[in-house]
Amino acid sequence: MINAEYEAVIGLEVHVELKTRSKAFCRCATSFGAQPNTHVCPICLGMPGVLPVLNRQMVEFALMTALALKCRLADYCKFDRKNYFYPDLPKNYQISQYDMPIATGGSLVIETENGPRTVGINRVHMEEDAGKLVHKGSIMTTPYSLVDLNRAGTPLLEIVSEPDLRSPAEARMYLEQLRLILLYLGVSDCKMEEGSLRCDANISVRPKGQRQLGTKTEIKNLNSFRALERALDYEITRQIKALAKGERIIQETRTWDEEEQVTMSMRSKEEAHDYRYFPDPDLPPLHIDQAWVERVFKSLPELPEQARRRLTEEYRLSRYDAILLTASKDILDFFDDCVARYPKPKVVANWINGDLARLLNQSKLEIRESKVTPALLVGLFRLLDEGTISGKIAKAVLEEMFNTGEPPDKIVKERGLVQITDESALQALVREVINENPTVVDDYKNGKDKALGFLVGQVMKASKGKANPEAVNRLLKEELSRR
Ligand SMILES: [Zn+2]
Repeated sequence: MINAEYEAVIGLEVHVELKTRSKAFCRCATSFGAQPNTHVCPICLGMPGVLPVLNRQMVEFALMTALALKCRLADYCKFDRKNYFYPDLPKNYQISQYDMPIATGGSLVIETENGPRTVGINRVHMEEDAGKLVHKGSIMTTPYSLVDLNRAGTPLLEIVSEPDLRSPAEARMYLEQLRLILLYLGVSDCKMEEGSLRCDANISVRPKGQRQLGTKTEIKNLNSFRALERALDYEITRQIKALAKGERIIQETRTWDEEEQVTMSMRSKEEAHDYRYFPDPDLPPLHIDQAWVERVFKSLPELPEQARRRLTEEYRLSRYDAILLTASKDILDFFDDCVARYPKPKVVANWINGDLARLLNQSKLEIRESKVTPALLVGLFRLLDEGTISGKIAKAVLEEMFNTGEPPDKIVKERGLVQITDESALQALVREVINENPTVVDDYKNGKDKALGFLVGQVMKASKGKANPEAVNRLLKEELSRR
C-alpha cells in the first residue's frame, strides 16, 4: 500500500575502465591481476616534479563512447584536480574533468515491459582511477587494509545518467544496455567482478505526483547487477518507511553490505566545493579536432540498437528475436555468419534462440566456447532441407554436434539417422499402427481430428523419429480412407 503512494527517482554514475594498453598519463601497463605495486612509476605514484602526458587512445575511446550515446561533444575541454585524501590516492588529488567535460547531453534506449524507453545521459567525462584497498571482509569491520597502486592512473570514463530511472529493474536495464554498448564498441571489457565496470546509484523517493525531488542518498559498492537491484530495493523501502514516519532523509553516502544485504551510512555526502576543484596546471586544455571526430564517427561499429533495427526491418524478425540475437556481439556475429551461408534468417534465429541457446544454458557456455560453428549449424539446415533427416532427429543431431563438434552428416551416417523415405517401409509401419489401434481408428472415422495426430505420433515413434512426418500424414490418411 505504502509503495503505491511513492515513486523512486534513480540516477546512475557508472565508472568504466578503458581498455587502453597503458595508463591515462604514464606508460605503465593497465593489465589486471599483476603482483601488487608492480605496474607503477613516479608519475602514477605522484612523485614531486613529474609531468603527466595524456593518452591519445583514452580520448579516442571517450569520443567513441560519447558518439554512441548521442552526446554533444565539446570541441574544447580541460582536466581538473579533484582534491581529497584517501590512502589509495598517492597524489592526494585525482585528475578528472569538472566543469568542462568531453561530452554532455546524450541518451540510450532501454527495453522495458512497456516497450523501448529513452533514458537521458547527463555527461561523460574522462578521469583516472585510484588504487585499490584490499580488505579482510567488509570495509566497515576489517582490522587492516592493504594498498595496491597498480590500478592508480588507469583511464576511466564516468557516465552520468539523468535521474530518469523509476525502479530497480529499470536501473538494471540501463546498466545492461550501457554495458552492451561499451562491449560492442570494444572500449572496455566491462567485468564487474574485476571492477572494470562500477556503478554508484543516486536515489530519492517522493510522493507520487510531486515534482520536486526528495533528498537523495548515494549508494556505493554495487559490484553486480544483483547488488544494484537489491541495494535499490532496500534503500527505497528504507526511505519510504522513514518518510511515512515523518522522519527526514539525510543526504549521505551509503555502502551496500553484501553479507547483511543492507545499505549502511558511510559519511555525509560531500558537495563539489569540498573537493576544491581547479584546472590541472600540468595538462594543457584539450582541443578536439572536428576531422578527428568525423573519423571516429565513421569508424563506429554497428551498435546493439542499430543491429536490432536491421534484424527487424531487413530480416523481418520479431523484436524479441532481435533482442536475444543482439544480447552479445558474439551471438550477433554467429547469427550473421550463419545467414551469410544460409539466407533464411528466421530459421537461423529459431535454432540459435531455441535449441542452441538451451544447450549453451545447460552447460553454462558462451556461444564462442561452443563446438557448434556456423558452418556446422548450416550443414544441419541443409540435411533438413534435403529431407535426409526429420526435424526431430535434427534436434538430436544438434545435441551430438554440441557435445562432440562432429559434422552433422557424419553423425547422421554413423548413427543411422537417415530419414526413411522408402514409401513401402513407411507403408508397413502405417498398417502396423492402424492394426494395433482399432479404437483410435474408430474415433478418427467418427470425426475426431485429434485421433490422426495420435496415429502420426505412433508411426513416428515406431520409426524412432526417422520417418518424414508429412509423408506419414499423407500415407495414414490414404490408408484410413481405404478402411
Ligand atoms: Zn605509471
